[in-house]
Amino acid sequence: CGIVGYIGYEDVKEIILGGLEKLEYRGYDSAGIAIAHDSNVYICKEKGRIAKLRECLDNKVTGMLGIGHTRWATHGVPNQINSHPHQSSSKRFTLVHNGIIENEVELRQKYLKDTKFTSDTDTEVIVQLIEKFVNDGESVELAIRHTMSELKGSYALAILDGDDMNTLYAAKNKTPLLAGKGEGFNMLGSDAMAMINHTNLFYEIEDKEFLKITKDSIEIYTIYGNKITREPYKADIDA
Ligand code: GLU
Repeated sequence: CGIVGYIGYEDVKEIILGGLEKLEYRGYDSAGIAIAHDSNVYICKEKGRIAKLRECLDNKVTGMLGIGHTRWATHGVPNQINSHPHQSSSKRFTLVHNGIIENEVELRQKYLKDTKFTSDTDTEVIVQLIEKFVNDGESVELAIRHTMSELKGSYALAILDGDDMNTLYAAKNKTPLLAGKGEGFNMLGSDAMAMINHTNLFYEIEDKEFLKITKDSIEIYTIYGNKITREPYKADIDA
C-alpha cells in the first residue's frame, strides 16, 4: 500500500502512476487516483493492478494537482467502491489513506450519526469528519488537525480541498510519509523511490505532523498548529 501526491506545473497522470508503480512492491489489491481538473476533482479507481487503472484513466483529463493510492484492504472488501480516493458527502474533500483507524466505530457514533456513508472503509470516517468540522465553522487546516486529534491508529493522508486547488494537505502517524521538494513543484510519497525520478530532496515527516503544500512551498506544522523549521536532506539513490 502506498501514497503519491504532486502539485506543480506538469500534468500529474504519469507522475502519479509512475510513483504508484514504484510502490507496487509494498503489495496492494486496488489502486486509485484523483486529479484536480479545472474546478472539478476527477476520480478513477479500480480493484486490481495499476495497469488496469491506466486503462480506465481518461487521457483527456489533465491537471497539475493530484493524489494516488494503492490499497491493502483492512476494513471493507477489495472492490471499486472501497478503493481510494474517498470523498466527503458534499464531494468538497477528497482523501487517500494508508493505515488503520481503530476508533472508527466510536467516531461514527459520536460525530457522524447523520452522515450517509458510501463505502465500508475506516478511511471514509476521516474525510467525513474533516467536512463536518469545516461545516461547524472550522478552517480547513484546523478541521484536519482536529480530525487528527480524534483519530486513534495509523495514517498517512493526502487531502484535496475542491474549494482550493492550489493546496495539497497531508498528515502522518505511524505510517511512512515523506515530502519531496522540487523547483516549481512539490511531492508526497510513502518512500523516496516514489519521487526519485523528479527530485532527490526530501523532508522527513514525524508522527502527528500536518503539512500544507503548494507548488512553491512545503510547510510542516505540529498537530497544535505550530510551524516547524526543518531542512530537507539529499538522498543519494539512483532512479
Ligand atoms: N484501512 C484502509 C482501508 O482498508 C487503508 C488500507 C491501506 O493502508 O491501504 O481502506
